[in-house]
Amino acid sequence: MRARDVSERALALYRGALVVDLHNDLASRVLDDAYDPDVRHPPGVGAGLGHTDVPRLVESGIAAQWLAAFVDAEYAARVPDASFTRAMRMIDVVHALAARHPDHLALATTAAEVRAARAEGRVALLLAVEGGHAIEGSLERLRELHAAGARYMTLTWNNGTAWAGAAEGLGGTRRGGLTDFGRDVVREMNRLGMLVDVSHVSEATFRDALDASSAPVIASHSNARALRDHPRNLHDEQLRAVAQAGGVVGLNFYAEFVDPSFGRRAGRTPLALLADHADHLAAVAGIDHVALGSDFDGIRATPEGMEDVTCLPLLVQALLDRGWRDGDVEQLLGGNAMRVMERALR
Ligand SMILES: [Zn+2]
Repeated sequence: MRARDVSERALALYRGALVVDLHNDLASRVLDDAYDPDVRHPPGVGAGLGHTDVPRLVESGIAAQWLAAFVDAEYAARVPDASFTRAMRMIDVVHALAARHPDHLALATTAAEVRAARAEGRVALLLAVEGGHAIEGSLERLRELHAAGARYMTLTWNNGTAWAGAAEGLGGTRRGGLTDFGRDVVREMNRLGMLVDVSHVSEATFRDALDASSAPVIASHSNARALRDHPRNLHDEQLRAVAQAGGVVGLNFYAEFVDPSFGRRAGRTPLALLADHADHLAAVAGIDHVALGSDFDGIRATPEGMEDVTCLPLLVQALLDRGWRDGDVEQLLGGNAMRVMERALR
């Protein structure tokens, strides 16, 4: 981040806010890319580069970083299914990370624990499971993941499961709605105090999940389909439905989900296009239903300037330049996510 691009006012606003990022794939980098999260890396994508590590997370000012235990579709295709073990290994990576840095990091499972960590000057790490295949069709497995600390689960990844459809239906997997068992999964997540995440799911599963859930539902890392027509993004009526359910939509920084000209543009995606999505989410879902879901270290391209976890003040500046009020920026940065966590997590 270039300091000259951010005003004192934007920096002060950012530093005073309780910043929550709903989605980050650092754990996958550690497990799959032999990426050392303990040392500083140059920002970027590729071997030896990254968006996140402990030095930059501490520097970032983020209060609560959700880390995904992402289970790639290939694990579900193995016989016997290897998805649950994979999710637990990913969760172990995060537990080990927190254990190595007790002065800087603290595992958290509730909003109150996030506030406690913040008061101690530590970054709270929260665990998410990305891909419902991780439960291998078993509520018992779901309860084990919750017991290991997971506090939201994305019902599908790009692959559907036997009980939930994915927007992309990778490899010919399910794209329809929830089955009866799928509704049981949602209700059990409600009972456990675990957020239901509808990023990645099909439109039918989206509707079924919102119908079945008695708690706010989140879309942890998705953008506005009206601005970028991509199956990972949400239609306006879906944005309104998340808001009506009391949930939040986490703004995703992946240039492919931001930029309608992605792949055809000569230069990088302008940061203004990311701010456009923030504007649209706030206009359609309402300012109380917008959050951050960067997807850092799970994405191959970011808008210009948004190079890593330390660059969030650039977004604050862009929003202030558009006339966002301080309180509204604070809601987007974390206030809204904290409200939902307060209500749903146990
Ligand atoms: Zn994802």
